[in-house]
Amino acid sequence: MTQALQSRPSHAGRFVLVTGGGQGIGAAIAEAFGRRGAAVGVLDAYPERAAAAAAAITAAGGKAAAAAADVADFTALSVAVSQLEEKLGGRFDVLVNNAGISPKHDGRAHEAWEMAPEEWERVVAVNLNGCFNAIRLLTPGMREAGWGAIVNMSSVAGRTYSVVVGAHYAATKAALIGLTKHLAGELGRYGIRINAIAPGRIDTPLIRTVGDAVNAGQVAATPLGRLGRPEEVADLALYLSSEEASFVTGQVVDVAGGMMMT
Ligand code: NAD
Repeated sequence: MTQALQSRPSHAGRFVLVTGGGQGIGAAIAEAFGRRGAAVGVLDAYPERAAAAAAAITAAGGKAAAAAADVADFTALSVAVSQLEEKLGGRFDVLVNNAGISPKHDGRAHEAWEMAPEEWERVVAVNLNGCFNAIRLLTPGMREAGWGAIVNMSSVAGRTYSVVVGAHYAATKAALIGLTKHLAGELGRYGIRINAIAPGRIDTPLIRTVGDAVNAGQVAATPLGRLGRPEEVADLALYLSSEEASFVTGQVVDVAGGMMMT
């Protein structure tokens, strides 16, 4: 966590579900919430990743539990959420929809003409339907509580062409912006806020798959002249789900070093 938020109010008493929390940005978000006193449910498709991220939080004195599920599978996600809520002893009132995939082929994204329909459908299933599944599962509890905060992980690629992702990825990240803005309208009356984060190029296992030369091009398009750190995305997720953002909903906030083109 960066210094900026150290003195801000704690997230103690919150129950936070982080999807794709096993590595990269999701793991940094889970750890940040753990350090701020929240009970953290770390959910990942890979059980060993979820377990390791949760163990890191508890080793640092925080409260966390791990579960494995594919966010695209509503039934499996539902079971995992119930397990996590039971282990943590409360209902989730913060949801960070972070799980996402960006398939690569030979170190580059498929162009749309060569993309198998199954590849398109899988990216939509994880990146878009997975968010819907988690929102559908958690919003009834938030409505009953009269408070909730949801953060969807979009991307600058949802707004502009990026050489490093495919059309499926860009389309799902754009769809998350529409989903966020629509649901802000639906959910505000229940005391539930929903915002999206649009990261630029963040240094995680996901982006290392494209190679140093491609990432150097991304850095060149970033005024701050470097890749972002997962912790810098985590700080924004903390803010958007905090009381300090109590009048902020339906927004898309970039954490992109000023990235202007990709
Ligand atoms: P990552 O691949 O390093 O980590 C993603 C995690 O999500 C992994 O632990 C993975 O196992 C998990 N996951 C993948 N599919 C899943 C599924 N179906 N169900 C449950 N868990 C699943 O990725 P990252 O770079 O940390 O990216 C996290 C999010 O941020 C993604 O939504 C990504 O699209 C978005 N994003 C990343 C960048 C970047 O530069 N890294 C930029 C913009 C947006």
